[in-house]
Amino acid sequence: TAQEETFEFQAEVTRVMDIIINSLYSNRDVFLRELVSNAADACDKKRFLSITEGDGGDATEFRIRVKADKDARTLTIEDSGIGMTKDELINNLGRIAQSGTAKFMEALGKGGQSEDINLIGQFGVGFYSGFLVADRMTVVTRSWKDGADAKQYRWESSAGSSYTICEDDSEPIEGSGTRLVLHLKEDCEQYLDDFKVKELCNRYSEFVTFPIQVWAEKTKYEQVPDPDKEAKEGEEPPMKTVSKTAFEWETMNKMKPIWMRNPAEVNDDEYTEFYKSTFRAWDEPLAHTHFSLEGQVEFKALLYIPGVLPYELSRNMFDDTSRAMRLYVKRVFINDKFEELLPRWLMFLRGLVDSADLPLNVGREILQHSKMLTVINKRLVRKAIAMFEGLAEDEEKYKPFWTSFGKYLKVGIVEDEDNKDTLAKLARFTSTHGDSKDAVSLASYVERMKEGQKGIYYICADSRSAALMSPALEKARKLDYEVLFMTEPLDELCAQAIERFDGKELIDLSKENADLGDAEEEKREKAIKSEETEEFREWLKKAVDSKVQKVEVSTRLVDSPATLVQSAYGMSPTMQRYMKAQAV
Ligand code: ADP
Ligand code: MG
Repeated sequence: TAQEETFEFQAEVTRVMDIIINSLYSNRDVFLRELVSNAADACDKKRFLSITEGDGGDATEFRIRVKADKDARTLTIEDSGIGMTKDELINNLGRIAQSGTAKFMEALGKGGQSEDINLIGQFGVGFYSGFLVADRMTVVTRSWKDGADAKQYRWESSAGSSYTICEDDSEPIEGSGTRLVLHLKEDCEQYLDDFKVKELCNRYSEFVTFPIQVWAEKTKYEQVPDPDKEAKEGEEPPMKTVSKTAFEWETMNKMKPIWMRNPAEVNDDEYTEFYKSTFRAWDEPLAHTHFSLEGQVEFKALLYIPGVLPYELSRNMFDDTSRAMRLYVKRVFINDKFEELLPRWLMFLRGLVDSADLPLNVGREILQHSKMLTVINKRLVRKAIAMFEGLAEDEEKYKPFWTSFGKYLKVGIVEDEDNKDTLAKLARFTSTHGDSKDAVSLASYVERMKEGQKGIYYICADSRSAALMSPALEKARKLDYEVLFMTEPLDELCAQAIERFDGKELIDLSKENADLGDAEEEKREKAIKSEETEEFREWLKKAVDSKVQKVEVSTRLVDSPATLVQSAYGMSPTMQRYMKAQAV
């Protein structure tokens, strides 16, 4: 028999397995979702490669089969996917990307138990969830990459610190694929029940685009001649119904991908379930939009606004491991790495695009220069904005959206010249209006503007309370003008980018030339006082060691004796700190 080799798991794998086995057992069911999704990924990879690299004539039937064996106490998940070479067994099942582990550990540190379990799939450690229900896992696999005479290998482990690999001579895998055998733990009997297995497949895998078949018992009814009754002359013999039970492969999932269906025939629950299963999410999306474009470029698309900020984006606003958009060509999954599909300020969306017009072996280089991509990108942005506008019709619904994703829209205002004006309508800022800390829109600000008010006033500060203490605010408050608080670093850039709203200028109160609509009289007074105080002002400037550019008479103070302002083109302290932070 074949030589068996023993390998050590990378230390991180052992740690991850420990955590999974010892602390994530509250919802074991998810193992099936993870393993079926790996099987589907393997089918995706093979389908993609056989089209782009193979002769195309490969008649593989892609499918995933799940079968329980009560006598052997095993649950087997078999796919006709890409399979693994010996090296891949070592690299993919024996180690995990360092960053993946670190992120997984960190994520486990926060959040509740119910969320923890869902994190498994997001960090490239889903495979090990098999150990939630199995004390031993056997992986038998044959790689598509090794061609027709590829060897079949067996990988085996009982968790712990090591695993074995050897050539395998059990039932051959046809073509390529992977057969994963879970040797179930004592208390995991329920997963031997085909009814339970079917329920789990239905729950988790409804939207997998390959057929999932479960080996299940089926009762069939047949009409047979009744032996107890005699046939009358010239009549058919009397029949009776008998039932027979037999096991057969029962297909679980609807095969038509949701985005190919008519939106009128898909209900909200289906959209939500699709979102959860496709993007490994557990939150309810805030909104979705499903549409197709016909004409010079044809494609179908489905976009979601997540219910919460995706985990990786909560650590890093523009984390490039965030997989926002899935690209399909004629229903074949190509990849989820085309950042060009959406501008970065829409990175928080989740969705997919399926185009029949792109070549299947579409490469990054081709796509980058493709006009088609620009068309798709533009249309996605338009539809996304329409979705935000839809939410904004109801401030109560809009509030959580703005809280989670407002900062992205602010980036949009700064970076997306074409959509700046539309986005400005969607922006919200806190203000001196009322006592509330609720954010207001610019449109509502304009409605509240006083007669003769020059523009939309704002003040930049580190916090609302700091802003409220600023002497720069005094005059505006005396005149009973509303003032917006720009308390986040992006706010200031954003206000500068907006420039004007509804014809009204956005005016920074902490700038030297902030126009509060001084009366002629005030201007005259200012000129006289400036002359009178010339010597004093010279002295003061020297006294503060020339740390200021000028010392001037101001008409904007009410109670405070003096205030610091920036020159008209200067950067505010908030901004300076922001730029510094960005430079790191
Ligand atoms: P992820 O799926 O996020 O990459 P997993 O821990 O679920 O992380 O799987 C690790 C890796 O093992 C996969 O990336 C893949 O390369 C390999 N793998 C797992 N299951 C299969 C399978 N059924 N067929 C082929 N490769 C697989
Ligand atoms: Mg996986």
